[in-house]
Amino acid sequence: MSHRLGWMLVVALATTARAAPSLPPAPPPAPGAPVRPTAPDPLPPEAPDARPRVAAAAAPATALDVKNLHTLTDDPTVGKADRVDGDERGGVVAFTFDDGPNPETTPAVIDALQKYNVPATFFIVTQRIAGKHGEKSREILQRELDAGFLVGSHSVTHPNLKRASADQLNREVDASIRTLAIQANRPIGLFRPPYGAINLAGRLRLKKLGLTEVQWSVDTLDWRAHNADRLRKKVISMIKKDGGGVVLMHDVKPITAQVIAGVLDDLEAENCARLAGNREPILPVSLHYFLRDGKAPRELPAAVKQRTEAYRAALPERCAKRSAPPEPAVQHAAK
Ligand SMILES: [Zn+2]
Repeated sequence: MSHRLGWMLVVALATTARAAPSLPPAPPPAPGAPVRPTAPDPLPPEAPDARPRVAAAAAPATALDVKNLHTLTDDPTVGKADRVDGDERGGVVAFTFDDGPNPETTPAVIDALQKYNVPATFFIVTQRIAGKHGEKSREILQRELDAGFLVGSHSVTHPNLKRASADQLNREVDASIRTLAIQANRPIGLFRPPYGAINLAGRLRLKKLGLTEVQWSVDTLDWRAHNADRLRKKVISMIKKDGGGVVLMHDVKPITAQVIAGVLDDLEAENCARLAGNREPILPVSLHYFLRDGKAPRELPAAVKQRTEAYRAALPERCAKRSAPPEPAVQHAAK
């Protein structure tokens, strides 16, 4: 229980995740204790591991039972929920980014999300984080985790699972969970099928493993966009039209990396206009908000709620700082 609690805190309290070792080596869970009281040497002189220090510190002797796949999916905050379609609730928007990490494009997406204080979920194609070619992608994954973003599996090689055999499900679902959970050093409760395509056998597999299937409601089609300005306008207008939802984008696409800050700026501008007009903002939230158990909303972790409340509380000041037209003009335009 203390491990689970500790891990939930790490997920939720993004900024403290790096300072406090995410999963303390089994015995001492003492949350306020200074760094690793039991380790006499800050660094062994041999340093046999080539991994960077941060990654080593964030991945101590793990509490995961790597041989037991069910422990690798046992995430009580996001796992075992109904399929997410994005229409579970209105007035909030959850951004999701698929197919990464890509060292060329994903960092810009993370930067933009952090700049605008927007939560997101990254669905990882795990062949990108495997082997010696995956070194940079693993670092980006770690950055996503340290920053408190959710991560889920998006299969190993991104096949269409519409006609998947049991064997292919082993190779694409189970194996991706193994890779991702072990690399992330935490259980993984979310799976997004490539192309949103999955058959009954696939759905049964996800259910058996306790994975929540995540689809989307706002399909930006960013992967086939060529005009950045048009894409940016399209994404924000889709979000406004639907009053939120689960937005699908691809952090591996240069055009997405190019426009995402603009999209988030447009969202903030929209929310500032709503604030000025005494209307509810479209709050950017974590995917947690869309989780249902037998149609009933799942209770939100306190830290997830707090994060949303913090966004709302910070909005007036952020709006005041924007170089927007003076208030009367905004109000006039809103009519
Ligand atoms: Zn994909």
